[in-house]
Amino acid sequence: MKVLVIEDNDILRDNIVTYLDIKWYKAKWHADYHWAMLEVVNYKPDVIILDLGLGSEEWDGRDICRALREKWDSTPILILTARSLTEQKIEGLNIGADDYMVKPFDYNELIARLEALVRRSMGQKWQIVRVWDIIIDTSSHQVKLSESEVRLSKLEYELFLYMARNIGRALTKQELLEKVWGEYDAFEESRTVDIHIGYLRKKIGAEIIETMRWVGYIIPDTYRHE
Ligand code: CA
Repeated sequence: MKVLVIEDNDILRDNIVTYLDIKWYKAKWHADYHWAMLEVVNYKPDVIILDLGLGSEEWDGRDICRALREKWDSTPILILTARSLTEQKIEGLNIGADDYMVKPFDYNELIARLEALVRRSMGQKWQIVRVWDIIIDTSSHQVKLSESEVRLSKLEYELFLYMARNIGRALTKQELLEKVWGEYDAFEESRTVDIHIGYLRKKIGAEIIETMRWVGYIIPDTYRHE
């Protein structure tokens, strides 16, 4: 999962990015309005952590939030700020943020809120994603196949989760590179995807992931859990 952190405090930003990394998230950051807006388009984050006071007199985090919503960008936004007045919270939610957290904050709570936002944006209600008899717990990153744990690497987990969330849809290697590896690089070997699909098949069963020649891969709809 990709997070864009818009925060001007270096220490706090580094702490957030480090913590996200420990929790298996990919993160990029900016503190500038224009760079942040560009990064939303290029990086396509799954969720944005947005500070309000960003050290500029011309604009603050609210302007970024408003501008994104005016462009019909629906990326979930969590405002993370020291502004703790009720009116400020109401304003933040009214201009299009999806959640509002006041500093100082608890890192585990921040992660849980990010998870909830991403789940909601993907139309998923709970932290569990199921593919046939495989259970993915997105809060603990645990994967279980008929009750026994399957040990996946971070990359295998991300790949499987993305495919599971898009069950029944053909996924091109380009899309997988962009969504799972973080960014699509035209020079990136699409063999990378093939190799990791191979590892994944060994661990969860070869039949679950079908190869679509010249296209990419799919977990067929028949594996959808009823
Ligand atoms: Ca700040």
